Amino acid sequence: MANIGIMGGTFDPIHFGHLRAAEEVLQGFQLDRVIFVPAGNPPHKAGERISSAEHRYLMTVLATMDHPNFEVSRVEIDRPGFSYTLDTLREFRKRFPGDNLYFITGADAILSVHYWNGYRELFELADFIAVTRPGYSMESLDCLRPLIGEQCYSRIHVFTVTSLAISSSDIRDRVRKSLSIRYLTPETVRRYIERNGLYKD
Ligand code: ATP
Ligand code: MG
Repeated sequence: MANIGIMGGTFDPIHFGHLRAAEEVLQGFQLDRVIFVPAGNPPHKAGERISSAEHRYLMTVLATMDHPNFEVSRVEIDRPGFSYTLDTLREFRKRFPGDNLYFITGADAILSVHYWNGYRELFELADFIAVTRPGYSMESLDCLRPLIGEQCYSRIHVFTVTSLAISSSDIRDRVRKSLSIRYLTPETVRRYIERNGLYKD
């Protein structure tokens, strides 16, 4: 029986905040691997301009390819329509019937979990690991308890990771302003952004 971490995100672009959180969760929860799942068409970012799924997928591959326990899945980007975590977790549950699934989110993401499509079933499909993130307090997690109920709430594991105040939006902002993004994301990703002229306007 394997322990599998699943980290969803827009990854526009992936950065050291994502990677370090995944690394610490991998060790802390003795996971066998972490699968990064770039969102195809995230409903919560409809109306925002995001890079093509292929760019985001390739950057995620570049960032994780030298880690023996990190993988990238195309499930969401190859599925038509909006990307719902529910469909993704159902798919992984089917692929890995006997394994433990852990869905990894940051503090900001977990706080809106009661708005996610079919969240009750989500908690039947996987445990949630909510990692700390600078600027988002885990204290407010208590407010979730009455909203989602004790049973779901008990499947959330709060986990403190090294605080890296890095966000994809900040990286995009810096690129737009022609500021350096070195040491915020792997060098391979930085070069990919540069070569493809991402986030320039
Ligand atoms: P954006 O600014 O575009 O929203 P982001 O940096 O929040 O980008 P996402 O792709 O939205 O990145 O995040 C994917 C997941 O990673 C979310 O669960 C988010 O909470 C988590 N995450 C992102 N950055 C960090 C960080 N610096 N530390 C901990 N968790 C993070
Ligand atoms: Mg985000």
